[in-house]
Amino acid sequence: MSNISSQILKKRKQHVAMVLFSILSILLFFNLCGWKFYLEARNLLDEELGNRLISIAVTTAFQISPTLITAIKEKTIDDAQSFNFREYLTTINENNELESIFIIDKDHNLILDAGSEHLEGEKYQCMDVDDTTKILDVFLGKPSCSKLYRKGKQMFKTGFAPLKEPCGEVIAILGVDASPKFLNALSQIKNILILFGIISLVFGVISVLILLAVIKGFISDLFHAEKFASLGRLSAGIAHEIRNPLQIIGSTAELLKKRYLSQDNYDELFDYIPDEVKNMNKTIANILSQTKDTLLELELNNLKALLDQIINRMSPDMERANVKITKHIEPEIGEFYFDKQQMEMVFQNLIRNAIEAMPDGGVIAIKAYPYRNGNQFVAIEVGDTGHGIHKRDQKRLFEPFFTTKEHGYGLGMSIVFGIIQKHGGKIMVKSKQKQGTTFTMILPWKQVSES
Ligand code: ADP
Ligand code: MG
Repeated sequence: MSNISSQILKKRKQHVAMVLFSILSILLFFNLCGWKFYLEARNLLDEELGNRLISIAVTTAFQISPTLITAIKEKTIDDAQSFNFREYLTTINENNELESIFIIDKDHNLILDAGSEHLEGEKYQCMDVDDTTKILDVFLGKPSCSKLYRKGKQMFKTGFAPLKEPCGEVIAILGVDASPKFLNALSQIKNILILFGIISLVFGVISVLILLAVIKGFISDLFHAEKFASLGRLSAGIAHEIRNPLQIIGSTAELLKKRYLSQDNYDELFDYIPDEVKNMNKTIANILSQTKDTLLELELNNLKALLDQIINRMSPDMERANVKITKHIEPEIGEFYFDKQQMEMVFQNLIRNAIEAMPDGGVIAIKAYPYRNGNQFVAIEVGDTGHGIHKRDQKRLFEPFFTTKEHGYGLGMSIVFGIIQKHGGKIMVKSKQKQGTTFTMILPWKQVSES
């Protein structure tokens, strides 16, 4: 690949990488913000809940008489007293939407539970080592709360307050369990964040794939342009080498004709060489103009008149091939700016290919009309009823040197493509095997000449 092409490719790759990087950065930014929000919300709610549980535990503990606790511990409490106390705790439990209220003695035994979450008589188990130290702190008189912990699908948190003798000695601990419903909402947010993360990942992968495909497209465009440019250089070289000897042959033939042919003894044999030399010169000029990246000579031209000329010139070929041609140019098309010589090449190539695609004869239909009711573009169709183009070949149709013919060069369609592109237009193909092919060209219409 030439230097310029690899520079263009490098630049394109950089652009693509930048777009890719921006997309992925935005996704990452939103993901990180989501997680930051989630963690902050969770910490804040956790702290608020802890404060609330501690305050419930402290106020409730304040209402409970130490003699009642001693009676419970020593199992000297009578049934009525026990019932009333449990009722009291249950009311607090319900009013504060708690899971349970329980009491632990100094040996960490559960001596009462109003919510039946814990088994009375068993040792109270902390979920975390940190919480065990916190309980020890409560026994020293300092209210505290546990971390958030999970039991099954539910989250729990417990607030602790010391139950004291009037002298200040801690004889037991009151615990209040809460199952924070709002944490379920946080779990949902977490799930949404995970989903968003997965979607971002999928989106990231898809954009990488799309961008890779785009890069691949750039590369193939560049190769196309490269091939065409090398072809131009090669043919220019060959044409240059052939032209000089050809001119010598032509002028020598003319000299010989003058020298050896008397005026009254005309022999057409003497015209063959100069005529054929002229033809060859024309062919070389033609190849050169096709392959050289010549500038457009935009002038106001009449499409209908141009087509009449071409059809006239090619009609012997069509008659021989038993091909009929129809032409419908909408009257409003009139004159517009295009390079007459180059467009002539376009139609010649398309009509020749159409004839070659219909070995048993058929119809070529040419149409021109304003494209999509606007006045910006004109659409020109060249259709045939030939053998059609295989789907696989349609992609390679405009590549230089692509041919399916035994004696083809594969240049016509790439020349057509180049000329239409230079006009600022595009060409599309629709083809069905054994039914025919239609090429549609979209060209700028009523544009102002730029050259
Ligand atoms: P060539 O005619 O020398 O093969 P072209 O560039 O003109 O080269 O065409 C390339 C290929 O495109 C042809 O070989 C043929 O397979 C296909 N093609 C072009 N036009 C048509 C058409 N109207 N119908 C069927 N095939 C076509
Ligand atoms: Mg051809």
